[in-house]
Amino acid sequence: MNTQPVIFDGHNDLLTRLWLSASDDPVHDFIHGALPGHLDLQRCRQAGWMGGLFSIFLPPFAYVKNNHPEKLSKALGLNLNSDSDFDPQQIVDICCAQLKLAEQLQNRSEGQIQICTSLSQIQACQRNQQLAIVLHLEGAEAVAIEPGLLDIFYDAGLRSIGPLWNRKSIFGDGLNAPFPHSPDTGSGLTKQGKDLILRCSEKQMLIDVSHMNERAFWDTLEIIDQPIVATHSNAHALCPQARNLTDSQLDAIKQNRGLVGVNFDVAFLRADGQRNTQTSLDVIVDHLDYLVDHLGEEHVGFGSDFDGCLLPDDLSDVSQVYRLVERMQQRNFTDQLIKKITLENWLNVLNKIWK
Ligand SMILES: [Zn+2]
Repeated sequence: MNTQPVIFDGHNDLLTRLWLSASDDPVHDFIHGALPGHLDLQRCRQAGWMGGLFSIFLPPFAYVKNNHPEKLSKALGLNLNSDSDFDPQQIVDICCAQLKLAEQLQNRSEGQIQICTSLSQIQACQRNQQLAIVLHLEGAEAVAIEPGLLDIFYDAGLRSIGPLWNRKSIFGDGLNAPFPHSPDTGSGLTKQGKDLILRCSEKQMLIDVSHMNERAFWDTLEIIDQPIVATHSNAHALCPQARNLTDSQLDAIKQNRGLVGVNFDVAFLRADGQRNTQTSLDVIVDHLDYLVDHLGEEHVGFGSDFDGCLLPDDLSDVSQVYRLVERMQQRNFTDQLIKKITLENWLNVLNKIWK
Protein backbone atom coordinates (compact mmCIF):
# COMPACT_ATOMS: atom_id res chain seq x y z
CA MET A 1 0.00 0.00 0.00
CA ASN A 2 1.69 3.22 -1.08
CA THR A 3 -0.57 5.68 0.67
CA GLN A 4 -1.54 5.72 4.31
CA PRO A 5 -4.88 4.01 4.91
CA VAL A 6 -7.69 6.09 6.35
CA ILE A 7 -8.10 5.29 10.04
CA PHE A 8 -11.29 5.30 12.11
CA ASP A 9 -10.50 4.58 15.73
CA GLY A 10 -12.75 3.06 18.42
CA HIS A 11 -11.60 5.00 21.47
CA ASN A 12 -9.79 8.15 22.58
CA ASP A 13 -9.84 10.41 25.63
CA LEU A 14 -9.27 13.76 23.91
CA LEU A 15 -12.34 15.42 25.42
CA THR A 16 -11.25 14.55 28.94
CA ARG A 17 -7.76 15.82 28.20
CA LEU A 18 -9.17 19.09 26.87
CA TRP A 19 -11.25 19.41 30.05
CA LEU A 20 -8.17 18.78 32.22
CA SER A 21 -5.94 21.08 30.19
CA ALA A 22 -4.41 24.08 31.96
CA SER A 23 -4.53 26.06 28.70
CA ASP A 24 -6.88 29.05 28.50
CA ASP A 25 -8.21 27.79 25.19
CA PRO A 26 -7.52 24.09 24.57
CA VAL A 27 -10.06 23.98 21.71
CA HIS A 28 -8.04 26.60 19.83
CA ASP A 29 -4.86 24.68 20.62
CA PHE A 30 -6.34 21.46 19.20
CA ILE A 31 -7.58 23.08 16.01
CA HIS A 32 -4.36 25.00 15.41
CA GLY A 33 -2.00 22.18 16.20
CA ALA A 34 -0.47 23.46 19.41
CA LEU A 35 -1.81 20.89 21.84
CA PRO A 36 0.60 18.49 23.54
CA GLY A 37 -0.58 14.91 23.84
CA HIS A 38 -1.38 12.24 21.29
CA LEU A 39 -3.84 14.13 19.07
CA ASP A 40 -4.39 17.48 17.39
CA LEU A 41 -6.11 18.35 14.14
CA GLN A 42 -2.96 18.83 12.06
CA ARG A 43 -1.35 15.60 13.17
CA CYS A 44 -4.60 13.65 12.74
CA ARG A 45 -4.93 14.90 9.21
CA GLN A 46 -1.36 14.12 8.25
CA ALA A 47 -1.74 10.62 9.67
CA GLY A 48 -4.96 9.92 7.76
CA TRP A 49 -6.69 9.54 11.15
CA MET A 50 -10.23 10.62 10.31
CA GLY A 51 -11.68 10.32 13.82
CA GLY A 52 -13.64 7.75 15.77
CA LEU A 53 -15.31 7.42 19.14
CA PHE A 54 -14.52 10.33 21.47
CA SER A 55 -15.12 9.56 25.12
CA ILE A 56 -16.87 11.75 27.69
CA PHE A 57 -15.41 10.49 30.94
CA LEU A 58 -15.37 11.33 34.64
CA PRO A 59 -11.73 11.05 35.76
CA PRO A 60 -11.19 9.73 39.30
CA PHE A 61 -11.13 12.46 41.95
CA ALA A 62 -7.71 11.34 43.24
CA TYR A 63 -6.27 11.47 39.70
CA VAL A 64 -7.46 15.03 39.17
CA LYS A 65 -6.30 16.07 42.64
CA ASN A 66 -2.80 14.65 42.12
CA ASN A 67 -2.24 15.61 38.49
CA HIS A 68 -4.42 18.66 37.84
CA PRO A 69 -4.95 20.31 41.24
CA GLU A 70 -5.71 23.68 39.61
CA LYS A 71 -8.78 22.07 38.04
CA LEU A 72 -10.21 21.28 41.48
CA SER A 73 -9.44 24.61 43.03
CA LYS A 74 -10.19 26.98 40.14
CA ALA A 75 -12.78 25.27 37.99
CA LEU A 76 -14.68 23.45 40.71
CA GLY A 77 -13.86 25.52 43.78
CA LEU A 78 -12.90 22.44 45.79
CA ASN A 79 -10.64 22.35 48.80
CA LEU A 80 -7.45 20.52 47.84
CA ASN A 81 -7.07 19.09 51.30
CA SER A 82 -10.34 17.31 51.10
CA ASP A 83 -10.25 13.57 50.58
CA SER A 84 -13.77 13.62 49.36
CA ASP A 85 -15.09 12.84 45.93
CA PHE A 86 -16.94 14.87 43.35
CA ASP A 87 -20.48 15.62 44.46
CA PRO A 88 -23.38 14.64 42.18
CA GLN A 89 -23.72 18.11 40.65
CA GLN A 90 -20.01 18.23 39.85
CA ILE A 91 -20.19 14.81 38.17
CA VAL A 92 -22.98 16.07 35.91
CA ASP A 93 -21.12 19.35 35.29
CA ILE A 94 -17.87 17.61 34.33
CA CYS A 95 -19.62 15.44 31.73
CA CYS A 96 -21.62 18.39 30.37
CA ALA A 97 -18.40 20.42 30.12
CA GLN A 98 -16.82 17.71 27.96
CA LEU A 99 -19.89 17.58 25.72
CA LYS A 100 -19.61 21.35 25.32
CA LEU A 101 -15.94 21.01 24.38
CA ALA A 102 -16.95 18.61 21.58
CA GLU A 103 -19.52 21.13 20.36
CA GLN A 104 -16.92 23.89 20.45
CA LEU A 105 -14.51 21.75 18.45
CA GLN A 106 -17.18 21.45 15.79
CA ASN A 107 -18.42 25.03 15.90
CA ARG A 108 -15.02 26.70 15.93
CA SER A 109 -13.35 24.49 13.30
CA GLU A 110 -14.77 26.25 10.21
CA GLY A 111 -16.19 23.00 8.90
CA GLN A 112 -13.13 20.87 9.65
CA ILE A 113 -14.68 18.89 12.52
CA GLN A 114 -18.11 17.24 12.58
CA ILE A 115 -20.07 15.43 15.30
CA CYS A 116 -21.53 12.42 13.45
CA THR A 117 -24.66 10.40 14.18
CA SER A 118 -24.94 8.41 10.96
CA LEU A 119 -22.80 6.44 8.55
CA SER A 120 -23.48 8.90 5.74
CA GLN A 121 -22.14 11.75 7.89
CA ILE A 122 -18.95 9.79 8.60
CA GLN A 123 -18.57 9.01 4.91
CA ALA A 124 -19.03 12.68 4.06
CA CYS A 125 -16.28 13.49 6.56
CA GLN A 126 -14.02 11.01 4.83
CA ARG A 127 -14.70 12.56 1.41
CA ASN A 128 -14.23 16.11 2.69
CA GLN A 129 -11.24 15.34 4.91
CA GLN A 130 -13.09 16.43 8.03
CA LEU A 131 -12.49 14.97 11.48
CA ALA A 132 -15.45 12.78 12.49
CA ILE A 133 -16.46 12.75 16.15
CA VAL A 134 -18.77 10.01 17.37
CA LEU A 135 -19.67 10.82 20.97
CA HIS A 136 -19.24 8.05 23.55
CA LEU A 137 -20.01 8.10 27.27
CA GLU A 138 -17.54 6.03 29.33
CA GLY A 139 -19.05 5.19 32.72
CA ALA A 140 -22.64 6.37 33.20
CA GLU A 141 -22.51 7.90 36.70
CA ALA A 142 -23.90 11.18 35.40
CA VAL A 143 -26.94 9.36 34.01
CA ALA A 144 -27.39 7.61 37.37
CA ILE A 145 -27.66 11.03 38.98
CA GLU A 146 -29.85 12.59 36.33
CA PRO A 147 -31.63 9.99 34.14
CA GLY A 148 -32.90 12.73 31.79
CA LEU A 149 -29.32 13.45 30.83
CA LEU A 150 -29.27 10.43 28.50
CA ASP A 151 -31.91 12.07 26.27
CA ILE A 152 -30.16 15.44 26.41
CA PHE A 153 -26.83 13.87 25.44
CA TYR A 154 -28.52 11.77 22.74
CA ASP A 155 -30.05 14.90 21.25
CA ALA A 156 -26.58 16.46 21.26
CA GLY A 157 -25.21 13.49 19.28
CA LEU A 158 -24.30 10.78 21.81
CA ARG A 159 -24.50 7.41 20.00
CA SER A 160 -22.34 5.11 22.11
CA ILE A 161 -22.15 4.17 25.80
CA GLY A 162 -20.02 2.09 28.13
CA PRO A 163 -22.36 1.82 31.12
CA LEU A 164 -19.58 0.80 33.53
CA TRP A 165 -16.02 1.87 34.32
CA ASN A 166 -13.56 0.80 37.05
CA ARG A 167 -15.80 2.17 39.83
CA LYS A 168 -18.83 0.46 41.30
CA SER A 169 -22.05 2.26 40.40
CA ILE A 170 -25.77 1.65 40.62
CA PHE A 171 -25.45 -0.08 37.23
CA GLY A 172 -22.98 -2.74 38.36
CA ASP A 173 -19.57 -3.54 39.82
CA GLY A 174 -16.66 -1.81 38.18
CA LEU A 175 -13.72 -3.74 36.81
CA ASN A 176 -10.63 -3.03 38.85
CA ALA A 177 -8.23 -5.91 39.46
CA PRO A 178 -4.49 -6.49 39.93
CA PHE A 179 -2.42 -8.07 37.14
CA PRO A 180 -2.73 -10.84 36.18
CA HIS A 181 -6.41 -11.48 36.68
CA SER A 182 -9.36 -13.08 34.96
CA PRO A 183 -12.21 -10.73 33.91
CA ASP A 184 -14.45 -12.51 36.43
CA THR A 185 -14.10 -9.87 39.15
CA GLY A 186 -17.56 -9.41 40.64
CA SER A 187 -21.29 -9.43 40.15
CA GLY A 188 -23.01 -8.65 36.91
CA LEU A 189 -25.43 -5.92 35.94
CA THR A 190 -27.95 -4.63 38.44
CA LYS A 191 -31.60 -4.15 37.49
CA GLN A 192 -30.78 -0.47 36.80
CA GLY A 193 -27.79 -1.53 34.68
CA LYS A 194 -29.98 -3.79 32.55
CA ASP A 195 -32.62 -1.07 32.23
CA LEU A 196 -30.01 1.45 31.10
CA ILE A 197 -28.65 -0.92 28.45
CA LEU A 198 -32.15 -1.68 27.17
CA ARG A 199 -32.91 2.03 27.05
CA CYS A 200 -29.72 2.72 25.05
CA SER A 201 -30.34 -0.26 22.80
CA GLU A 202 -33.84 1.05 22.00
CA LYS A 203 -32.17 4.29 20.98
CA GLN A 204 -29.93 2.21 18.67
CA MET A 205 -26.80 3.26 20.52
CA LEU A 206 -23.60 1.24 20.52
CA ILE A 207 -23.11 -0.69 23.79
CA ASP A 208 -19.45 -0.94 24.79
CA VAL A 209 -18.39 -3.89 26.96
CA SER A 210 -14.73 -2.83 27.28
CA HIS A 211 -14.94 -2.01 30.99
CA MET A 212 -17.36 -4.76 31.99
CA ASN A 213 -16.41 -7.69 34.18
CA GLU A 214 -17.25 -11.09 32.77
CA ARG A 215 -20.65 -11.45 34.42
CA ALA A 216 -21.82 -8.06 33.21
CA PHE A 217 -20.55 -9.01 29.74
CA TRP A 218 -22.68 -12.18 29.68
CA ASP A 219 -25.66 -10.32 31.16
CA THR A 220 -25.41 -7.77 28.35
CA LEU A 221 -25.30 -10.44 25.66
CA GLU A 222 -28.38 -12.03 27.14
CA ILE A 223 -30.56 -8.94 27.06
CA ILE A 224 -29.80 -7.35 23.69
CA ASP A 225 -29.75 -8.51 20.06
CA GLN A 226 -27.43 -5.96 18.52
CA PRO A 227 -23.70 -6.54 17.84
CA ILE A 228 -21.59 -6.20 21.00
CA VAL A 229 -18.50 -4.02 20.80
CA ALA A 230 -15.40 -3.87 22.99
CA THR A 231 -14.07 -0.50 21.85
CA HIS A 232 -10.63 -0.75 23.48
CA SER A 233 -9.70 -4.22 24.76
CA ASN A 234 -7.22 -6.92 23.77
CA ALA A 235 -6.75 -10.69 23.91
CA HIS A 236 -6.56 -12.12 27.44
CA ALA A 237 -4.61 -15.13 26.15
CA LEU A 238 -1.70 -12.80 25.21
CA CYS A 239 -1.98 -10.35 28.12
CA PRO A 240 -3.89 -11.62 31.16
CA GLN A 241 -5.19 -8.23 32.23
CA ALA A 242 -8.78 -8.30 33.54
CA ARG A 243 -9.88 -5.74 30.93
CA ASN A 244 -8.88 -8.08 28.09
CA LEU A 245 -11.21 -10.65 26.55
CA THR A 246 -11.03 -14.41 27.10
CA ASP A 247 -11.41 -16.84 24.23
CA SER A 248 -14.99 -17.65 25.22
CA GLN A 249 -15.84 -13.93 25.22
CA LEU A 250 -14.25 -13.62 21.77
CA ASP A 251 -16.29 -16.59 20.55
CA ALA A 252 -19.46 -14.86 21.77
CA ILE A 253 -18.52 -11.59 20.01
CA LYS A 254 -17.84 -13.54 16.82
CA GLN A 255 -21.23 -15.24 17.01
CA ASN A 256 -23.00 -11.98 17.65
CA ARG A 257 -21.11 -10.30 14.76
CA GLY A 258 -19.62 -7.61 16.99
CA LEU A 259 -16.19 -6.00 17.02
CA VAL A 260 -13.08 -5.62 19.17
CA GLY A 261 -10.92 -2.48 18.90
CA VAL A 262 -7.28 -3.12 19.80
CA ASN A 263 -5.97 -0.93 22.61
CA PHE A 264 -2.43 0.47 22.17
CA ASP A 265 -1.77 0.84 25.92
CA VAL A 266 1.36 -1.14 26.79
CA ALA A 267 -0.22 -2.54 29.99
CA PHE A 268 -3.00 -4.11 27.90
CA LEU A 269 -0.56 -5.48 25.33
CA ARG A 270 2.41 -6.98 27.14
CA ALA A 271 2.40 -10.55 28.43
CA ASP A 272 3.92 -9.26 31.71
CA GLY A 273 1.40 -6.39 32.03
CA GLN A 274 4.24 -3.94 32.76
CA ARG A 275 3.84 -0.21 32.13
CA ASN A 276 7.00 -0.33 30.05
CA THR A 277 7.01 1.78 26.89
CA GLN A 278 9.85 -0.23 25.39
CA THR A 279 7.26 -2.44 23.80
CA SER A 280 7.61 -3.57 20.20
CA LEU A 281 4.84 -2.76 17.75
CA ASP A 282 4.95 -6.47 16.96
CA VAL A 283 3.01 -7.00 20.18
CA ILE A 284 0.11 -4.93 18.80
CA VAL A 285 0.27 -6.97 15.61
CA ASP A 286 0.27 -10.17 17.70
CA HIS A 287 -3.03 -9.08 19.29
CA LEU A 288 -4.48 -8.10 15.91
CA ASP A 289 -3.42 -11.47 14.51
CA TYR A 290 -4.91 -13.38 17.42
CA LEU A 291 -8.18 -11.45 17.24
CA VAL A 292 -8.47 -11.93 13.47
CA ASP A 293 -7.90 -15.68 14.00
CA HIS A 294 -10.61 -15.88 16.65
CA LEU A 295 -13.15 -13.36 15.35
CA GLY A 296 -12.59 -13.31 11.60
CA GLU A 297 -11.35 -10.44 9.44
CA GLU A 298 -14.59 -8.46 9.71
CA HIS A 299 -14.65 -8.07 13.48
CA VAL A 300 -11.37 -6.37 14.45
CA GLY A 301 -10.49 -2.68 14.46
CA PHE A 302 -8.32 -0.12 16.22
CA GLY A 303 -9.25 1.20 19.69
CA SER A 304 -6.09 3.19 20.37
CA ASP A 305 -7.01 4.86 23.68
CA PHE A 306 -5.02 7.92 22.50
CA ASP A 307 -4.77 10.61 25.17
CA GLY A 308 -5.74 8.09 27.84
CA CYS A 309 -2.95 5.56 27.69
CA LEU A 310 0.75 4.81 27.83
CA LEU A 311 1.91 4.14 24.27
CA PRO A 312 4.89 2.14 22.98
CA ASP A 313 7.92 4.36 22.22
CA ASP A 314 7.66 3.64 18.48
CA LEU A 315 4.06 4.87 18.42
CA SER A 316 4.42 8.00 20.51
CA ASP A 317 1.39 9.83 19.05
CA VAL A 318 -1.06 9.70 16.14
CA SER A 319 1.60 10.84 13.67
CA GLN A 320 3.41 7.51 14.17
CA VAL A 321 0.50 5.21 13.33
CA TYR A 322 2.01 4.66 9.89
CA ARG A 323 4.70 2.60 11.66
CA LEU A 324 2.09 0.20 12.97
CA VAL A 325 0.60 -0.08 9.48
CA GLU A 326 4.07 -0.80 8.09
CA ARG A 327 4.54 -3.49 10.68
CA MET A 328 1.20 -5.04 9.69
CA GLN A 329 2.39 -5.07 6.07
CA GLN A 330 5.68 -6.68 7.07
CA ARG A 331 3.70 -9.33 8.90
CA ASN A 332 1.79 -10.12 5.70
CA PHE A 333 -1.51 -8.43 6.45
CA THR A 334 -2.96 -7.82 2.98
CA ASP A 335 -3.98 -4.30 1.89
CA GLN A 336 -7.56 -5.50 1.99
CA LEU A 337 -7.29 -6.73 5.57
CA ILE A 338 -5.54 -3.53 6.64
CA LYS A 339 -8.38 -1.51 5.16
CA LYS A 340 -10.93 -3.58 7.05
CA ILE A 341 -9.12 -3.15 10.36
CA THR A 342 -8.33 0.54 10.01
CA LEU A 343 -11.72 1.67 8.67
CA GLU A 344 -14.32 -0.60 7.14
CA ASN A 345 -15.09 -2.90 10.07
CA TRP A 346 -15.86 0.06 12.32
CA LEU A 347 -18.15 1.68 9.76
CA ASN A 348 -19.95 -1.62 9.13
CA VAL A 349 -20.64 -2.32 12.79
CA LEU A 350 -21.82 1.24 13.46
CA ASN A 351 -24.10 1.01 10.46
CA LYS A 352 -25.59 -2.28 11.72
CA ILE A 353 -26.25 -0.81 15.18
CA TRP A 354 -27.50 2.59 14.03
CA LYS A 355 -29.56 1.03 11.17
ZN1 LIG B 1 -11.35 3.04 28.97
